[in-house]
Amino acid sequence: MFPQLAQQRDNPCARTMTTQPTSMITPPASLALYVHIPFCQTRCTYCAFNTYTGQNNLILRYMRALERELAFVGPQAEAPVATIYFGGGTPSLVPPDAIRSFIRRAGEIVTLLPDPEITLEANPGTVDESTLRDLRRAGVNRLSIGMQSADAGELRLFARRHDVEDVRRTVALARRAGFANISLDLIYGVPGQSLSTWQHSLRAALAMNPDHLSMYSLGIEDGTPMQRWIERGALAAPNPDRAADMIEWATGYLVAQGFAQYEISNWSRPGRESRHNLHYWRNLPYLGLGAGAHGYAARTRYSTVLLPAEYIARIEAQGAPLAYPLSAAAVESEPIDAQTAMTEHMIMGLRLTGEGVAAADFRARYGRDLWDVFGAELAALLAAGLIERTPDDRVRLTPRGRLLGNHVFAAFV
Ligand code: SF4
Repeated sequence: MFPQLAQQRDNPCARTMTTQPTSMITPPASLALYVHIPFCQTRCTYCAFNTYTGQNNLILRYMRALERELAFVGPQAEAPVATIYFGGGTPSLVPPDAIRSFIRRAGEIVTLLPDPEITLEANPGTVDESTLRDLRRAGVNRLSIGMQSADAGELRLFARRHDVEDVRRTVALARRAGFANISLDLIYGVPGQSLSTWQHSLRAALAMNPDHLSMYSLGIEDGTPMQRWIERGALAAPNPDRAADMIEWATGYLVAQGFAQYEISNWSRPGRESRHNLHYWRNLPYLGLGAGAHGYAARTRYSTVLLPAEYIARIEAQGAPLAYPLSAAAVESEPIDAQTAMTEHMIMGLRLTGEGVAAADFRARYGRDLWDVFGAELAALLAAGLIERTPDDRVRLTPRGRLLGNHVFAAFV
């Protein structure tokens, strides 16, 4: 459902794999745990995520399979778990009892660091106050709500099942239920969207007083209704120049409202950055559980079988742990060598607009000097004005580099 998952699934690093062993210097201090919930009520017109409609009857069996998968993989984890993220799909379709059971089992199977961040993605209108209270009691302490737009026409184009009132109600109920950390997702660069409808959506989102905002430029994915409409000429293609104007306006507006941009597509109030997603961008390990999940742990990237029923069958048939971090659901895995890990570190770390990539951290992680490894690439990007070097020896994107991020990342591949 949400672009956090896109971040997981579309990780460009996953395409640059080789097979030599790597030699990391610093062992990871913590792990993140991603749990994929591949069920939705209906399919949105732009969505290519691994999610299914009409299979909600599988949800409880699927949740039991998730616990079983974690019981095989989790005891071998190389570090304690700092965050759990229920992404989808629509995780808010899962009964809170099943979420509580998973979190309780996770606490028995892995070491949870104190005060773990536990996020659940929720679609507006899929949760009532008692469900939200139950989720909060289960240990979920962060909600990521798929608002996408405040404009009725855009929501219809997306075939979203909610209107802006549903979003307001869900946020208000979540506050009443005790959620102190709420993120909203918005989409810009939509065909037919004007700067003023985008401004209206962002102002409506801010009026709900969120702690965090994720704003994604609409991507047209293969096999989606939107792609077919554009191919047939029934819908205009997104206009990248207009999208750039929208994000430029949003950046200034959000800064004036007390938000800081910390990643290309993410803004937060101080201290409300997504700890789970920071794990990805810092190129730290994470386990991916469920159908169509991706993971990166013990210097191995892997992905799991897509179909929920096949996932359940594989996990139910598994009798013993496999080589960490894989379970019987894994369909692809690749060892990551040192050069690939360093490349991934640059591609992911440069997404962090404030923090960027610190030379000291790079040396501690890989035992190599950042400027020795990537001196030529960094010099070219500095000369082009796409990155800057800070006095404490970090490199990070300039405002121009943020608009041309893909060009910057391509320099390292
Ligand atoms: S709610 Fe819509 S966008 Fe989200 S995963 Fe389901 S179909 Fe995709």
